[in-house]
Amino acid sequence: MEKYLSQLNEAQLAPTIQMNGPMIVIAGAGSGKTRVLTYRIAYLMHKGIDPFNILSLTFTNKAAREMKERIASIVGQSEAKNLWMGTFHSVFAKILRIEADRLGYPANFTIYDAQDSQRLISSIIKEMGLDKELYKYKSVFSRISSYKNSLITVRAYFQNPELIEADTMARRPRLGDIYKEYVDRCFKSGAMDFDDLLLKTNELLTRFPEVLAKYQDRFRYILVDEYQDTNHSQYLIVRALSDRFQNICVVGDDAQSIYAFRGANINNILNFQKDYDDVKMFRLEQNYRSTKTIVNAANSIIDKNETKLDKVVWTANDEGNKIKVNRSMTDGEEGRYVASTIFETKMNEQLNHSDFAILYRTNAQSRSMEDALRKRDIPYRIYGGLSFYQRKEIKDVLSYLRIIINPSDEEALKRVINFPPRGIGQTTIDKLLIAANGYKRSIFEVMKHIDKTEVKINSGTKNKLQDFVTMVESFQAMNESVNAFELADHVAKTTGLIKEFNKDTTPEGVAKVENIEELLNGIKDFVEEQKELADTTGSLTEFLEDVALATDLDNDTGEDDRVALMTIHLAKGLEFPYVFIVGLEEDLFPSAMSMNTRSELEEERRLFYVALTRAEKQAYLTYAVSRYRWGKLVDSDPSRFIQEIDEEYLDILTPIEERRMNPMLDANIFGDDVPNRNIRFKPAKQLPIQKKGATKMQGPVKVPVNTSKNLKPVSSTADAESGNLFDNKLVAGNIVKHLRFGKGEVLKIEGAGADTKAEIKFENGGNKKLLLRFAKLEVI
Ligand code: ATP
Ligand code: MG
Repeated sequence: MEKYLSQLNEAQLAPTIQMNGPMIVIAGAGSGKTRVLTYRIAYLMHKGIDPFNILSLTFTNKAAREMKERIASIVGQSEAKNLWMGTFHSVFAKILRIEADRLGYPANFTIYDAQDSQRLISSIIKEMGLDKELYKYKSVFSRISSYKNSLITVRAYFQNPELIEADTMARRPRLGDIYKEYVDRCFKSGAMDFDDLLLKTNELLTRFPEVLAKYQDRFRYILVDEYQDTNHSQYLIVRALSDRFQNICVVGDDAQSIYAFRGANINNILNFQKDYDDVKMFRLEQNYRSTKTIVNAANSIIDKNETKLDKVVWTANDEGNKIKVNRSMTDGEEGRYVASTIFETKMNEQLNHSDFAILYRTNAQSRSMEDALRKRDIPYRIYGGLSFYQRKEIKDVLSYLRIIINPSDEEALKRVINFPPRGIGQTTIDKLLIAANGYKRSIFEVMKHIDKTEVKINSGTKNKLQDFVTMVESFQAMNESVNAFELADHVAKTTGLIKEFNKDTTPEGVAKVENIEELLNGIKDFVEEQKELADTTGSLTEFLEDVALATDLDNDTGEDDRVALMTIHLAKGLEFPYVFIVGLEEDLFPSAMSMNTRSELEEERRLFYVALTRAEKQAYLTYAVSRYRWGKLVDSDPSRFIQEIDEEYLDILTPIEERRMNPMLDANIFGDDVPNRNIRFKPAKQLPIQKKGATKMQGPVKVPVNTSKNLKPVSSTADAESGNLFDNKLVAGNIVKHLRFGKGEVLKIEGAGADTKAEIKFENGGNKKLLLRFAKLEVI
């Protein structure tokens, strides 16, 4: 037997060496499903299967890359290179490029990201003169997206009275019209959105039997990870491609199905045995990832769900520490607890920052974590926020590059036609847009032939349009002879983009120019890398495709030693030694929006199961008694999920106990480095006036002096607990700054002690009453 196979247990070995036929591995978290897929591919290759005939679909491109590296270490680099691996989107984007002309698309079609799609929808809603409150572009977008993922095309929509009825009842009778216009405009722009990559693949495979036959013959072995989260569109693709040889191996865990809200269908995994003949079913039971405590606690959670397949998960790993539960007064304090615990643990255990992950239910929760990590100088990285490629300055450069490749790309063109400003106003752009719609041509073509059209524009503006066209055409000519980096560098300079951003000398402005430099470095790397690869040429089109499909998880080179911050959804399949699950409060997690039905609540519970099972050594559960949400301080109860874990696995700490146990932590909890808190507060008059034009303070406000910044909280939980807050004389007339509401004037102080409230008139936000105990006010 090959040596690498000895790194599998018996249960894992069986599906790994089962060469042919349909098979499914259903098993709990950390039991080696992904490992089985990886080794199975290596095994197939050892048995002489050509890597060109193997297709492996993963949840992220990063997962694909890691699998490929592992396989390469077993079978050798040159062989592994020829495997088809990646996400559904990236693999089928490649196939669509090859077959694009059959569907009437150019081979260099643009891929619209969610931001492009939403901008287009927003502009259509405006053009149609619809009420943007009723037709919120984001919800219209997600509606269209769910139609596409259910394979409901525009034509199918209009043939289905129930759908029309449903949208009409939802007071959006024109939804179908928006859908139609959106699809037409994408097509005219030579653009596919994310959902099109699946929808059009389905169309390709159904309409062209010879294409289907070609890819069926090509992908004789198909493997799918995280099968529980495939949607209908993905399911049909896998079904069609595997139909001839039926060598299909899917792995998944029904208990980790967490994408129903985006159309994932758990029935795909439950029905697999009905879809194919003679399905071999495998189960894995031993978890290799986590301690006994974590495995058992996770089991006790998922037991509460009614809808589930019976599974056993056990581990031979150590018992490990109990799961720490921490209560904080506010989200700010929660952040400080997490940051100081990371700081301490890293020091004590000699760990890396990358051994830690902070997982949350919603992206917005990252802010309080970031603040606390920054204060302690702990490097971190946020995944899944605004990705690098979606930043304005980056999208501006990319938009120029997109037009070079595909001048019909409407969203890219609208972005840069007048940026940097070149005197082409909105009225002109609107005229061009109307003409383009009328002539059924792209805006760029209308511009190019402006003299032959009936668009009424003065000659000065015509010249400007002509200049723009000439510039783009010169870039196109250049693209024939130089590489992607040289072209991008030239574009950034000659369009005046860099000059434009250089005008802004604020730190944000400087960061923008640095980001553009970083982008150029990235393109250079790409060009260099592609030189070594056989299956690509390193063209600008390929670079743009990579970018469009990149999530920031994919760009993680793993070189940086940083704490990882991400939503639980994004953490699926990953593992970290130390995991913090934060914001465990009712209405936040489980989310208030997911408590209407049992099935929604069960999906939240599966999400919690996913979160907990990411931890290898130690899990921390934290919650705050009150937190700011939608600009209001809300009280919250601890999440039911904490209570659902058997108590024997928990170590419930309050901040007070935590401090008693670890005096060093005391200082850390409050986010500063001075252990003796008594010296932190000095009367305001001792503070040098640091800010020019700052309003004079009108009362003896106590401000911490241990700071390099001139603005500091006058009240916080820390202050409250140290007894310093309540003799704090914030008075009417003080000008204060609030983290969320900005600048404001104190109108009135009422109440006493812990209940002291201030009524404040904010410049942008009107009058608000805030409890001083929690309000993060800064006197200016
Ligand atoms: P998830 O459900 O979270 O995706 P999974 O079932 O895919 O988990 P893997 O990620 O494949 O599990 O494995 C979990 C961890 O256990 C990995 O670090 C893997 O390398 C390790 N592992 C799996 N099987 C073995 C084994 N037989 N011997 C040693 N380590 C193993
Ligand atoms: Mg996995």
